[in-house]
Amino acid sequence: MNPRFAQIETLALHAGQPHDPQTGAVIPPISLSTTFAQEAPGRHKGFDYSRSDNPTRRMLEQCVAALEGGTHALAFASGCAAAASVMQTLEPGSHVVACDDVYGGTFRLLEHVFRNYGIETTWVDLTSLGSLHDALRPETRLVWTETPTNPLLRVVDIAAVSAVARAHGALLCVDNTFATPVLQRPLALGADVVVHSTTKYLNGHSDSVGGVVVTHDAQLHQRLRFLQKSLGAVPSPFDCFLVLRGLKTLPVRIERHCGNATRLARWLSAQPGVDKVIYPGLADHPQHTLAAEQMKAPGGMLSFVLGGGRTAADRLLGALELLACAESLGGVESLIEHPASMTHAGLPPALRARLGIDEGLVRVSVGLEAESDLREDLRAGLDRAREP
Ligand code: PLP
Repeated sequence: MNPRFAQIETLALHAGQPHDPQTGAVIPPISLSTTFAQEAPGRHKGFDYSRSDNPTRRMLEQCVAALEGGTHALAFASGCAAAASVMQTLEPGSHVVACDDVYGGTFRLLEHVFRNYGIETTWVDLTSLGSLHDALRPETRLVWTETPTNPLLRVVDIAAVSAVARAHGALLCVDNTFATPVLQRPLALGADVVVHSTTKYLNGHSDSVGGVVVTHDAQLHQRLRFLQKSLGAVPSPFDCFLVLRGLKTLPVRIERHCGNATRLARWLSAQPGVDKVIYPGLADHPQHTLAAEQMKAPGGMLSFVLGGGRTAADRLLGALELLACAESLGGVESLIEHPASMTHAGLPPALRARLGIDEGLVRVSVGLEAESDLREDLRAGLDRAREP
């Protein structure tokens, strides 16, 4: 695509997806073939076998690379497979410093899979640069963070953390699933690698599981590409098509997710029974200023704490009609969940308590419904949660 057209709204629609040269189809056909005829042994048109490379997957990879401002991207069968591929680039004996408030599956990978292969992780609050410095070891090769974090929505200073990691000779990987490249581009802030669960905002319609890894480091990309082909956790062409279709509306969806979340966060802050609302767009959020500088808008995720604890949370989630009680996030429809018993149930209880994932905490993925309808549903649920 002509580099003159570099705005994210335009890239989301067109990057990596030229009109089909044979038919002129504006939406390129989904390339289902598993294999590709070769003119002579070893001489082909750039594709030989679909696990190694596939035309629809390549379009998705090029589109996400353009959105993140990276030079290379690789698509995987899930966000966890994408994360695992980055971890698999580490040698046994390497050390990782990871943010202590991450998706439970990332914790599971580092603690219960990669530790068995000699890769040790220290979990720290990466909003504190002092904690990062204290955790670094001579063998630290990777710093891993999400921002905003999950489910406590802490905001990590990507530029500051990347400077510390770089000075130490470690790579910084940012899981950009919550913010998306519409709100922040970690590579431009100094990160070396970005991962996404495309299952969430990038696809945006809760109908495809996938992941991507983006970088501008050609050597790292080659290693990741080797792992993608060797381990084979690749997405189907149809899933790649779904994400490509979802990406077209990503900028407009994110704008509305953020608008709805901002209004709901303010409204929730004034509701009886709600002890605390956690949203980077609220002035009382501990990293409110950083969020305003680092992100274009505060995002579509918010969490809040019910004074009535687990009983109130169970009642609220049981009473809602519009917001579905479900794991996952980033789809057009609003979802609500209870991290302590759902997404973060796998964390040791002591770690959950230390982080502040208490029994009254609920997390909302604010969707695109009319905000007044969301309020109406939550109002009824909160009334139910306060019943004696
Ligand atoms: N990263 C984040 C921030 C997530 O929330 C999730 C899943 O919820 C993942 C990664 C893992 O993605 P997937 O479920 O596509 O494997």
